[in-house]
Amino acid sequence: MNQQAATTGSCDLLITGAYIYVDAGWEISSGWIAITDGRVAGVGANSEPAPTATETIDAGGRLVTPGLVNTHHHMYQNLTRSFAPVVNADLFTWLTQLYPIWSQIDDESVYLSTWVAMAELLLGGCTLSSDHMYVHPHGELIDAQVRAAGDLGFRFYANRGSMTRSVEDGGLPPVEVVQSRDEILADSERLIARYHDPAPGAMTRMALAPCSPFSVTSETMRDSAALAEKHDVRLHTHLAEDGDELTYCQEVYGMTPVEYFDSVGWMQSRSWVAHFIYPSPDEEQRMAAAGVGVAHCPSSNMLIGGGSADVQRLRGLGAPVGIGCDGSASTDHGSLWLEARAALTLARFRCGPTSMTARDVLDMATRGGARCLGWEDETGHLTPGACADLVIWGGSELSLAGALTDPVEAWLRCGPMAADTTVVAGRILVRDGQIQNSALAEMLTAHRRESARLQGVTA
Ligand SMILES: [Zn+2]
Repeated sequence: MNQQAATTGSCDLLITGAYIYVDAGWEISSGWIAITDGRVAGVGANSEPAPTATETIDAGGRLVTPGLVNTHHHMYQNLTRSFAPVVNADLFTWLTQLYPIWSQIDDESVYLSTWVAMAELLLGGCTLSSDHMYVHPHGELIDAQVRAAGDLGFRFYANRGSMTRSVEDGGLPPVEVVQSRDEILADSERLIARYHDPAPGAMTRMALAPCSPFSVTSETMRDSAALAEKHDVRLHTHLAEDGDELTYCQEVYGMTPVEYFDSVGWMQSRSWVAHFIYPSPDEEQRMAAAGVGVAHCPSSNMLIGGGSADVQRLRGLGAPVGIGCDGSASTDHGSLWLEARAALTLARFRCGPTSMTARDVLDMATRGGARCLGWEDETGHLTPGACADLVIWGGSELSLAGALTDPVEAWLRCGPMAADTTVVAGRILVRDGQIQNSALAEMLTAHRRESARLQGVTA
């Protein structure tokens, strides 16, 4: 590949002296990247002339990558991180203990949790995140999330989650956090009309996301698929996450989770699913052939201890595979770098030392995530014309001492690593490892207050 900028004229931001991972198979060992109007205007080697710029950052030889893409999260859960009573529970016990606490969330607590989650994601090198918001006890919670993203300048793929099957109908959640099919569909249409921006460079898009086979009815799964087709939006859900889900699907539907997924019209390329731990080899092939994406959440999988997706095999089959940090009460951190490192170590532990490289993981965390979100044309890479979402990685001299031969391997094998500079749509949101938004302290104080209210403890 030999695309680069027109080197005449000027740009808004120029980053020089960087090792640039532009895209899979395209790296510049010492180069510059120019940004104008929120897009990558061009890249080049330091030996080639660069445009003049309003602001220039000397990266000092550090690694620049596309911003990482988070394909699965539940940001509201950072209100109940490492919640002591259930840190050692299995998934279904953990959920049933936390649902009554989560039933107290409202517009204010969801705004705060989303703001804090996105700030944390920015520090971990993430510039585009989905969020599966499926608990809707009060208020207009997705609206609150979109406000938080807008206030921070974060690129946000909101997922209108839903649950219809409460304990009264054989499901897990209490009745306060589920909604009727009509409520869900009407609110989904409202949110798509208001926030889904299909235009290039969008800052907000919307997917429909019934929670899981054990918390929504088949009717809601089918209706959501039909609505997604009508408005050309994407579909997201949890699938094949837990052994108890297999039992549930056999008992209630008489089929496996993947057979059920297919039966309700979701086996299609507008869908991506979280976890996907328990498919058969034949089901993996069918999902890959249909173009269904998989959000791999290795830390959550290891903490729950039930297994993990075979991402090497899925990638080999051609399935879009991205990385997700999962909810902040099951993984508890929100660093995509940490999640990427977990993906590397888990894969090699599981499949051997030649099974995965740092570049494989970086490809999953960028291009792979963008494919899951159907946004590969302009996110997940830094080719000229792409959205200017990127990270200059930090890392101390101590942690990188002796790592001289491969900056991409060093990025994931050394550590801990965090963003020195995070740019979203051409705007610098993290500089010198610090969130640039002046509301951070105020947001953390308010978040602590809301968190204490939910948990019934003193702030
Ligand atoms: Zn999840």
